[in-house]
Amino acid sequence: MKKKDKNDKESATLTTAGGAPVSDNQNSLTAGERGPILIQDVHLLEKLAHFNRERIPERVVHAKGAGAHGTFTVTNDITKYTKAKIFSEVGKKTDLIVRYSTVAGERGSADTVRDVRGFAVKFYTEEGNWDLVGNNTPVFFVRDPLKFSDFIHTQKREPHTNLRSQTMWWDFWSLVPESLHQVTILFSDRGIPRGFTHMNGYGSHTYSFINAKDERFWVKFHFKTMQGIKNFTQEEADELVGKDPDWATRDLFERIEKGDYPKWELNVQIMPELEAETYQWNPFDLTKVWPHKDYPLIKVGIMELNRNPSNYFTDVEQAAFDPSNIIPGISYSPDKMLQARIFSYADAHRYRLGANYQRLPINQAKAAKVNTYQRDGFMRFDDNGGSSVIYEPNSFGGPKQNPAYKEPPLKISGNADRYNQPTVDDDFIQPGNLYRLLPPDEQDRLIKNMGGSLKTVPKFIQERMLAHILKADSTWGQRIRKELG
Ligand code: NDP
Repeated sequence: MKKKDKNDKESATLTTAGGAPVSDNQNSLTAGERGPILIQDVHLLEKLAHFNRERIPERVVHAKGAGAHGTFTVTNDITKYTKAKIFSEVGKKTDLIVRYSTVAGERGSADTVRDVRGFAVKFYTEEGNWDLVGNNTPVFFVRDPLKFSDFIHTQKREPHTNLRSQTMWWDFWSLVPESLHQVTILFSDRGIPRGFTHMNGYGSHTYSFINAKDERFWVKFHFKTMQGIKNFTQEEADELVGKDPDWATRDLFERIEKGDYPKWELNVQIMPELEAETYQWNPFDLTKVWPHKDYPLIKVGIMELNRNPSNYFTDVEQAAFDPSNIIPGISYSPDKMLQARIFSYADAHRYRLGANYQRLPINQAKAAKVNTYQRDGFMRFDDNGGSSVIYEPNSFGGPKQNPAYKEPPLKISGNADRYNQPTVDDDFIQPGNLYRLLPPDEQDRLIKNMGGSLKTVPKFIQERMLAHILKADSTWGQRIRKELG
C-alpha cells in the first residue's frame, strides 16, 4: 500500500458502484437496534456480491506470476532479416509488459520451487502487439501438442489424494523420451533460478522473420540476463518456500522500486528458409536447440524493466499473452507446439477474461490503431465502434484489407499423416551434450537432484528412465544408477 504523503488530497466521499454517496460504511441497516438486516441495505448487498466475484479463473498453467513494465531499445541493425518496425532503427524504443511465472503451482504457491519459469513479453509496437511468450528454457518436454494436457496433468494433483506426485512425473517422462532434454535442465541448477532477474528467457519455438524483399528466415529468440545467471540450491530454495514463498515476486518489485532496473540482451539465431530442409536437426522440434556453433547469437537490443505495476490485477492478472499476436515481419513456423499455442492461448484468455479481453487496458494495442468489425459480447466497455459500419465489404468507408501485408507463400510438401521424428535416438544427443558441458560441481548436483527425486518412485519406472539417461551419456547413467543404490 502506498503511504499517504502531504500532496495527497483529502479523502473523497465513498460511493456505491452506481455512484451514490454512502452515509455509513461501518453499520448495516437493521430493523431496530438489535434487529435483522433490511434487504434495502444495497451498499451491504453490493459489497458482499462483488466480493464473491473478485476472483477470475486462475490460469491452468503459469498461475503464480509477477510482472513489470519496461522498454525495449534496439542496439543492432537486423533489418536485413526482418521488416518489423520495432527493429527499424538503432536506438528505437518500444514499451512493453513482462510477466514471469512458475508453471505447475496454483496462484498462492511458492516462487522458489523446482519448475520451469514463464517469460512472457508483450511489445506495444506501432503495428500491433507482438507477444513473445517464452520460458527460461530453450526447449520443452514434448514436441507434439497432443501430449500437452497429459504432461501438465502429471505436474498437477492426483485425483484421489489431491497431492502432487513424482511417480506421475517420472512415469510420463520415462514413457516420452523426447522429454529428457528439458528434464535435464529442470534438475540442473537452472531448475531453480534465483528469482526472475537472474535467468535467461527463450522464445523456445522457432518463429519466422520476413524482410522487405519478402525473404523468410527461421528465427529463435534468446533474452540473456545482464544480471548474470544465478540459481538457488535445493536446500536454499526449500528454506525459502517456508520463510518467504513470494521471494521472486518481492525481489522483482523491490529492485524496480529502488531504481535497480533489471536488463536482458535480446539475441536471435537466424536460419535461412531453405536450410531447414537439410539441417541435421528438425528446426521445428521444440525439444531441440540450434547449437550456437551452427547458428551464432546475433545481438538485437536491450530490454529494461523500469516500472512496477500500479495495480497487480489490472496490469498482471488481466495481462493476456498470446503467441498468436504477431506483427508484419515476424510470423509463425511449422513447429507443432507453436501451432497449437496459437489457438490455445487466445482460447484460454477468452475463457478466463472473456471475448473482449484484447480491449482491457493492459492488452490494448497502444501504439497501433485497432480497426475490426468485432462488436458486442460480454464486458464490451469501450464505445463498441459507435455508429460505424459493422460489415465488410461495405460502401461506407469501413476498414479494408491491405495486400501489402501478405506473407510470402510457404512451401509445404508430403502426405497428411501423424508423424513422430524419424529416429528417437536423436532425443538423447542434446541432453548428453548438456550433461557434458556442465562443470563437475553442477553435474554432481544434477545427479543428486535427479537421483533424489527418482528414488521416490517405483523401481520399474526408475529402470525405464535410467535406460534413457545411459543412452544420453553412459557415465551420467552409471552415476544415477549408483545414486539410486
Ligand atoms: P554451445 O556451447 O554452443 O552452447 C552452450 C550453451 O549452453 C551456452 O551458451 C548456454 O546457453 C548453455 N549453458 C551453459 N551452461 C549451462 C548450464 N549450466 N545449464 C544449462 N545451460 C547451460 O553448445 P550447444 O549450442 O551445442 O548446446 C549444448 C547444450 O547446451 C544443448 O544441448 C542445450 O541443452 C544447452 N543450451 C543450448 C542453447 C542453445 O541455444 N544452443 C541454449 C541454452 C542451453 P545460454 O547462453 O543461453 O545460457
